[in-house]
Amino acid sequence: MKRVLAVLLLILLTLQVTSCIQLKPEYRAEEPNDGTAHDGTETLAPADALDAVFPSWSDVEKNAKLFLTATENPIVDATDAAYSYTDMATDLQILANAYPTHLSYRSIGKSVAGRDIYLAVLGNPDAPRQIVVSAGIHAREYMTPLLVMKQIEYILAYRNDGACNGFSYASILEKYCFYIVPMSNPDGIMLSQEGLSSLSDTELCDKIFSIYYADFAAGITNAGNVNEYLKYWKANAAGTDLNRNFDALWEEYDRIFRPSCQNYKGPSAASEPETQALVTLTESLNNIQAVLCIHSQGEVLYWDCGQNAALSEATRAFTAMIAARNGYYIVDEQNNDASYSDWCALEKGLIAVTVETGTGSCPLPIEQFETIWSDNFDLLLLSAVYFE
Ligand SMILES: [Zn+2]
Repeated sequence: MKRVLAVLLLILLTLQVTSCIQLKPEYRAEEPNDGTAHDGTETLAPADALDAVFPSWSDVEKNAKLFLTATENPIVDATDAAYSYTDMATDLQILANAYPTHLSYRSIGKSVAGRDIYLAVLGNPDAPRQIVVSAGIHAREYMTPLLVMKQIEYILAYRNDGACNGFSYASILEKYCFYIVPMSNPDGIMLSQEGLSSLSDTELCDKIFSIYYADFAAGITNAGNVNEYLKYWKANAAGTDLNRNFDALWEEYDRIFRPSCQNYKGPSAASEPETQALVTLTESLNNIQAVLCIHSQGEVLYWDCGQNAALSEATRAFTAMIAARNGYYIVDEQNNDASYSDWCALEKGLIAVTVETGTGSCPLPIEQFETIWSDNFDLLLLSAVYFE
């Protein structure tokens, strides 16, 4: 009898321990790697991310805002609008260490000031289909890198239990690979956030000063000092608007013919290293389903750049899917400005849409992030599922 009681006690204890384990807040990261980069140098310890606890999927499915408000110790901090280049680089490292099976990142080039242009590769790199996302190509629109980095964290957090229109995140991440450039214009973003102190190259600083004086003289700005002026900067560190620098009707674009805070198309098509990085990336992928160009602001969607009839129809239909989700207004007028989306559509025959997030004027205040998040948190996943 004593033996039977002892066995019963043991079973009860085992059940208790098991249920305790289940009740314990679960850290959802994958088996982390050993914190050592391929070159042998020590990277951030994966343990740095180990205290992140996310709300349960069923709650988040009902209310995505919970992911912002109820996430304990988030990796991507969405409480400060000035999401910096260093923040992004650090977060990519932490996320890639925590979720090595689903996320890697690498540099696809150097900016004018020598910063790495990072590419996040989310999903199965051998997947048959690809979605490309470019954010942060316009400097003062730096809420867009924050948005896509938060989207990456969100997808990774729910990679095992999330679902989108009946497709599990796991199956989406197996069949699709997302190639995401969160900060296509890192120098410009840091100029907008921190002013001239973000540049160490005195020659580049002198050049920015001369652009400021020229823009002031032309009435393009009335800012009383260079750092106030730089807050509203859109271009790269050479004064070229990267989204006017692509080789798609570039000759025709004629807004301004010298370096400026915005709209200068550069000395030649694809003259800038940041432009070349996006061109090389796009040309290296063999089955891109769609390209999302994330900008701010206006809550509108641009898609028409004079594509051929078949592509035009496909792009308009894809854009309508996005509008049905985020409620943004579809601009049905043809627009050409030598942009990345123009180049993707006209030169590469790809579905490409420009998503203008937020309202008001840039840089957007952090108070806008919650709405932008609610409208767009699942944009990447929906873009993939659309092609199923
Ligand atoms: Zn823009």
